[in-house]
Amino acid sequence: MMNEKTVNSACEYLHHNWRRLQDDIASLSNGRTRLMAVAKNQPIDSLKILLESGQTLFGENRVQEAQAHWQALKPLYPQIRLHLIGPLQRNKVRPAVALFDVIETLDTPQLARALATEMKAQNRFIPVFIQVNIGNETQKSGCAVDEIGPLLKIARSEGLDVTGLMAIPPAADAPKPYFEQLKRLVQIHGLAECSMGMSADYRDAIESGSTIVRLGTVLFGHRTD
Ligand SMILES: *Cc1c(COP(=O)(O)O)cnc(C)c1O
Repeated sequence: MMNEKTVNSACEYLHHNWRRLQDDIASLSNGRTRLMAVAKNQPIDSLKILLESGQTLFGENRVQEAQAHWQALKPLYPQIRLHLIGPLQRNKVRPAVALFDVIETLDTPQLARALATEMKAQNRFIPVFIQVNIGNETQKSGCAVDEIGPLLKIARSEGLDVTGLMAIPPAADAPKPYFEQLKRLVQIHGLAECSMGMSADYRDAIESGSTIVRLGTVLFGHRTD
């Protein structure tokens, strides 16, 4: 049973956890890394607690869940920055361009063209990151490391504003070498943003120069319901 007391303590838990992580990230990174709250599978009440705490950067994996979370909330909090961090299907490009402030998962020339066309149609030009399959895993999204240059060229010729790279290292390996490689690639290609690091490895990612760590579990706790 959720009585008022359990609701209040759940609320305090999340607020304090957020505060602690913000402080940890700020001191480890000298203010160079931002905390993204990954909102997938979270109830709206938790998102509201973070909004009231002052969190502005949120990530979503699925367009449909993002609409359910944010369509009513976003106009009330104009400072929110919403990033898509999950795969983008062609039939979701229109709602994605309408809702998100950054698409972090560009990984094919086809998607670059679809995004460019839709941004022109909506007259809404949002930055994109290229997702890199940094561990060269068969089942993972993202373009291969040696495809970054060609994809960047195509995306820019379509008029897209590509500002960063995003990656998820292979789960089985130590992440640090992958983080260092992604940071080098960001620098080689003259980009600004380096979206890497999740709950289990965000400290390693910050040491390697992450500009955005994407945190779910370590921020919200494990869902029990
Ligand atoms: C779920 C997810 C995260 C957050 O994962 P945690 O381990 O819960 O912090 C970060 N990035 C992406 C792309 C995700 O899908």
